[in-house]
Amino acid sequence: MSERAAPMYCPYCGEDTIRPWGDDPDKGHADWRCESCLRVFTVRYKGLTGTD
Ligand SMILES: [Zn+2]
Repeated sequence: MSERAAPMYCPYCGEDTIRPWGDDPDKGHADWRCESCLRVFTVRYKGLTGTD
């Protein structure tokens, strides 16, 4: 499992100017930086849910 959760928008300001962030973003460091508000955040995969 090497999939990263990729946010579509910054959860803080709502802009879509987010880029991978960190020293090694291709190896599972799911850090993202918003170029609009300059916040850095992490999106974590927490598991699956049922449909009912
Ligand atoms: Zn932002």
